[in-house]
Amino acid sequence: MNSLQSQARCPLFYTGLMLPAGVTERIAALLGPRGYLDRIEDLTLYEYDGSVDKHRPDLVVFPRTTADVAAIAGIAREFQVPFVGRGAGTGLSGGAIPREGGIMVAFARMNRILEIDIENQRAVVQPGVVNLDITQAVQESGYFYAPDPSSQRACTLGGNVAENAGGPHTLAYGVTTNHVLGLEMVFPDATIVETGGKELDLPGYDLTGLFTGSEGTMALVSKVTVRLMRKAEMVKTILAVYESSEDAGRTVAEITARAITPVAVEMLDGVMLRMVEEATHAGYPMDAAAVLLIELEGLREAVEEQVEQIREACLVSGAREFRVARTPEERDLLWKGRKNAFGAVGRVSPTYYVQDGVVPRTKIAPTLHFIGEVAREYGLTISNIFHAGDGNMHPIILFDARKPGDLDKARAAGEAILTYCIEAGGSITGEHGVGMEKNELMAKLFSPETLDMIRRLKDLFDPDNRLNPGKVLPTGRGCLEIRQAPLTAGATIY
Ligand SMILES: Cc1cc2nc3c(=O)[nH]c(=O)nc-3n(C[C@H](O)[C@H](O)[C@H](O)COP(=O)(O)OP(=O)(O)OC[C@H]3O[C@@H](n4cnc5c(N)ncnc54)[C@H](O)[C@@H]3O)c2cc1C
Repeated sequence: MNSLQSQARCPLFYTGLMLPAGVTERIAALLGPRGYLDRIEDLTLYEYDGSVDKHRPDLVVFPRTTADVAAIAGIAREFQVPFVGRGAGTGLSGGAIPREGGIMVAFARMNRILEIDIENQRAVVQPGVVNLDITQAVQESGYFYAPDPSSQRACTLGGNVAENAGGPHTLAYGVTTNHVLGLEMVFPDATIVETGGKELDLPGYDLTGLFTGSEGTMALVSKVTVRLMRKAEMVKTILAVYESSEDAGRTVAEITARAITPVAVEMLDGVMLRMVEEATHAGYPMDAAAVLLIELEGLREAVEEQVEQIREACLVSGAREFRVARTPEERDLLWKGRKNAFGAVGRVSPTYYVQDGVVPRTKIAPTLHFIGEVAREYGLTISNIFHAGDGNMHPIILFDARKPGDLDKARAAGEAILTYCIEAGGSITGEHGVGMEKNELMAKLFSPETLDMIRRLKDLFDPDNRLNPGKVLPTGRGCLEIRQAPLTAGATIY
């Protein structure tokens, strides 16, 4: 068997039809009657995440401690059953979907902040802690937790670590891996391992970095040590309004040319603006083709000077209006529009498909143009809202899953856009992960040798391929063919 064939291997021992006899009893003995769900109507609530795929788990379990997680991994190993971690299920690449069925380990009850160490700017949390809760716990002391996915009111630290989540403020502060200093993890053989800690740079390999972004395919995270950051003296939030989205795209390059790094540069196109404004009344112009939401932070004098430089960069690129929020309330309103955008889309379209391509900043304008062409070609509405400062594009493809063929069209349009991103020198994911949505595209991005290295790493920690199988690496067609027969009624693999 060559390496690519072995990537496509499936846990043939497990059919997905039902759990082997004895698994549920062992879980019940471990967690008690309220520690798991096994009725179809309950399991159905866990068959999806924020992406477009679905597959139902056979059992959802709710550990409270690391020892519980290790015992669950031990049961999964004993019965040779696949298992997958789940935080809030906001993932956008199918990461938390149990592609092979089996046990879902839901971290909702491991949601305690274990320690806040303001003097050393550290916090230690369980994986089910919601991202925003960390900032809310420390903000009165003048600190915050920097990675701020737009889903931060719901998504969990375990999910953030697995996906190496970013957010609007990634541009200046970096992504999750830059703020996670230590992990406690449970491996598929049920061993518990700690990496890193409160210290900045421990000797040896950067194991914490290796597992951050591994999409829950190598280990389950049971504890996270994070860095806390001090709030800046001054924050300025700016709204720049444009008649053309290409002009907004050019502004990003103009800002870079002036050697300024705002903490955030977010872009919303005209389609998105109108949906967001109708839903949130954030004060966005309904008639514009695009806006940029730009944020600067730092010492007062430096920020005031940078506001003027940014004004110049916007006007020279064709901005028709340049607005600086005058009060914290105005600033919150501008961000309210951005952070509630996906909800706004949900009011207009019954289903939508969020893409996560990355292009060099200088290629934003042509990429937006290409996305427009794809929308016309497939007869779909595609709106854009994205982290423009990083070139991390989020085209949102609106479709109606109830209409035959619509989902296929949305998938084909998404793939065309991601292929364009690769050809433009970018990538198929900036922050949402590969999951089961983009794993077949990995072969377009990486050489066979690189894919083989990723597979060998996965094999090292999960030799039986039971932890979150069928994710990240291309599976080929073998798995689907094998799975078709045993699928239970109601279980769907698109
Ligand atoms: C409206 C909206 C806006 C979003 N905005 C952003 C954004 O700005 N930036 C961004 O990066 N993402 C964004 N996302 C995507 C998503 O919120 C992130 O990927 C987030 O990190 C997922 O966290 P979660 O707790 O929901 O994880 P889930 O969706 O439950 O799981 C995601 C992955 O993490 C794994 N996992 C979960 N917990 C553990 C654990 N304890 N140990 C090991 N693996 C685990 C799962 O198996 C799965 O592979 C957005 C999503 C939505 C719906």
